This record gives sequence, C-alpha cells and structure tokens, in this order.
Amino acid sequence: MTDIHTGHGFETVAIHAGNTADPRTGAVVPPIYQVSTYKQDGVGGLREGYEYSRSGNPTRTALETNLAALEGGRRAVAFASGLAAEDCLLRTLLAPGDHVVIPNDAYGGTFRLFAKVVSRWGVEWSVADTSDPAAVRASITERTRLIWVETPSNPLLGITDIAALAEVARSAGVRLVVDNTFASPYLQQPLALGADIVVHSMTKYMGGHSDVVGGALVVADTALGDELAYHQNAMGAVAGPFDSWLVLRGIKTLPVRMDRHGENASRVADMLTRHPRVTRVLYPGLPEHPGHETAAKQMKGFGGMVSFQVEGGEEAAVRVCDRARVFTLGESLGGVESLIEHPGRMTHASVSGSALEVPADLVRLSVGIESADDLMADLKQALD
Ligand code: PLP
Repeated sequence: MTDIHTGHGFETVAIHAGNTADPRTGAVVPPIYQVSTYKQDGVGGLREGYEYSRSGNPTRTALETNLAALEGGRRAVAFASGLAAEDCLLRTLLAPGDHVVIPNDAYGGTFRLFAKVVSRWGVEWSVADTSDPAAVRASITERTRLIWVETPSNPLLGITDIAALAEVARSAGVRLVVDNTFASPYLQQPLALGADIVVHSMTKYMGGHSDVVGGALVVADTALGDELAYHQNAMGAVAGPFDSWLVLRGIKTLPVRMDRHGENASRVADMLTRHPRVTRVLYPGLPEHPGHETAAKQMKGFGGMVSFQVEGGEEAAVRVCDRARVFTLGESLGGVESLIEHPGRMTHASVSGSALEVPADLVRLSVGIESADDLMADLKQALD
C-alpha cells in the first residue's frame, strides 16, 4: 500500500510527511509552536499565513499535512478529540430535517452525539447493519445526507465492506463517512476505497501511547476540506500544539506498532478460542469471523482489538476484567500497553437500551505490544 501523493511507502510517509526540517535551525523534528498569535508585518502582513493559533499553528499544520498523506487524502483537520472532530463534521454538513444512517455497532460516545446532541437540532437518524449493503440501501430516505460506518466496529469488531457501501452512497447521492480509528491508515485507507470522509480518534493508535486526546477528519475533496477547515476555525475545538506534536511523534512508529499489535492480538484470539470458559471470540483475523474475507480484502492486517464473551454472564465478565494484572482495567485503546474493559458498564454504557446495546457478558481487549506470552498467561489466570 503506497501513498497516492508521493509514491513513497507508508513507513516513509509516516516519518517524513509534514516533518520538514525547521528552516532556522535545521531541527529534524517540527518544534512545538506553543504560541497563540503571530507578529504581522504591517496590517494583514502574515508570514506563511499564520495569524492566530485557532485558525492555524505550524505544529498542527505539520500534523495535518502528515495525516492527509497517510490517508491518501488532500486535506486533514485536527481537533482536540475524536468527538470534537465528529461534532464539527456533523454541524458542517447537516441541517435540521436531514437524516443519517448510523451503524448498529459503534463507539458509545458517537451514538450519544447522534441520539442526545444533534437530534436536539432536528437531525434524524436510523440504525442499520452496515455489514449488509442492502440493509443500508433500504434505510436511505430522500433526506439522508450521510452514511456513517465504523470498521472494524467498537466493540463487536464487525466488518463493513467499504467499497460496497461507497457504491450504495454514490448511487444515492449521499456521503460515506468511515471512522478508521480501530484500523489506522496503516491497515486501511477508506478514501482509496471510495469513502468521502475519514474520522479518527487520534487518542488511540495514532497517538499510540495513552498520553494524548485528539481527533481528525481527512478528505480527498479540497472544496469539502476547505469547508471543514472553515468550520474547524469557526467552532474552535482545535488540536493544541503540544497534542499535535505528540500525535506526530506517535505516528512515526505506527507501522511497527500496528504489526506487533496484530501479531499479539492474533495469538491472544487464538488462545481464547480454545479456552473452555470463553463462549465466543470476536476478531476479524479468525477465519470463522463473518467479516473475515472482507477484512482480508480491504485491510493489510486485522488490528489489535479483540472482544470475547464468557460463560457466566455479566458478573463473570466483570470478574475477568477485575482479575487481569498485565492488562490494565481502563477505557480507551490503541496504546502500547494492553487494556481490558467491560463495554456494557464502561465505554458503551450510553448505548444501554438502544439498538446498539452490547452483550452483558462481553469483554473488550486492546492488545498491546508487550510479550504475547505474558498477555496470554494473564488472561488465562483471569479466566480460570
Ligand atoms: N471513534 C471511536 C471508534 C472511538 O473508539 C472513540 C473513543 O473511544 C471515538 C471515536 C471518540 O474519540 P475521543 O475519545 O478521542 O473523543
């Protein structure tokens, strides 16, 4: 998979795109421009276009340039969180009366944004199984403006065929949004498969070290990119310089981290399929996973997220989370350290009672890059 702009391999782009040496000192890493405003050379005389750091900041520009290249897009805009990016996207593209098709499995906070926030402004939504293009097509109304997809999805690791849905979206004249947080652009590039907008929680694999919260939107259409950048400034939830710098640093090792996340996750998933107390393992790398073939077609690897269901219901699932030692009990994902959580009571409490409700006996793992043997031993002792 090569970057469509530069012709260089992904690993090269990850390290170099946007990371031009500082012209004054030659520093090989972009400085943290911890600054709010810029001296003007006479009224309106802006140096390199910088005026005020909500509108633009050189460290954020470096990150946005990098993100656009990684996703094979033309424009990226970076935000203070993944949800800030989503909010900006929805308020840029939707008006009262518009309708969005949302997936039947998604991050709880994304669902909450639709169900509790934008719905108050007259935006309507309905839920579809996005792994079934016919079901999505049937949910489209004349007011539909967006189809929203997460693949792999959070927390059930469902797989949507991006190219098939892009076709559904194109024939209906609506835009396809893909939340690429679980895959990262190293494993999957939705724009090349026909999606219109890529969403990221950079808090996860892009940052990769559980030390920053951030979000991004990436598009191939420059007019849409300009519109989003206008609203990014108008709404104001921008990524700060230090956060931008941390994500930029994390991205340099994204390919090697993702390879190891995938290797470890595949060993953990395989071990879980053979454990007598595990009733179901959800990992797109397993041949029996319903989305396995589609994932193999559109992804370079299967990622680091694994979910599983246990014998004994909710209490048993909570007990496994409590007993893990190498896996840290906590929300979030995508860092080098392994995390374990109970989606029903934690990340997905906000979908309780909705069409997106998650099984009570479900445990979600963010498999880190520690020794796979230690991770498997930890899960065995937690389950036994
Ligand atoms: N999208 C997905 C798939 C997520 O898992 C999350 C957070 O967990 C978000 C979006 C929201 O991102 P953030 O927490 O950075 O606001």
